[in-house]
Amino acid sequence: MAYKITEECINCGACEPECPNQAISAGDTIYVIDPEKCTECVGSHDESQCKAVCPVDACIPDSDRQESREDLQAKYKRLHG
Ligand code: SF4
Repeated sequence: MAYKITEECINCGACEPECPNQAISAGDTIYVIDPEKCTECVGSHDESQCKAVCPVDACIPDSDRQESREDLQAKYKRLHG
């Protein structure tokens, strides 16, 4: 499932450069994750990089977006060729 950024976000920007899929960008009020690009870091890392660097634990799995590991791997392939 894609990750999302909660209202806890303090706009530090630490996550943005860490995402291997360029899924994170500055939104109107807080940083946002494009679910079409988030693979939970499947394909490139063992753990979600945004979650690993977020100082306030604002990056969490979005339970509304269930995807299998195979789906996530396929998404990674689509994004990176
Ligand atoms: Fe990017 Fe990984 Fe965070 Fe998804 S979990 S937004 S792929 S850093």
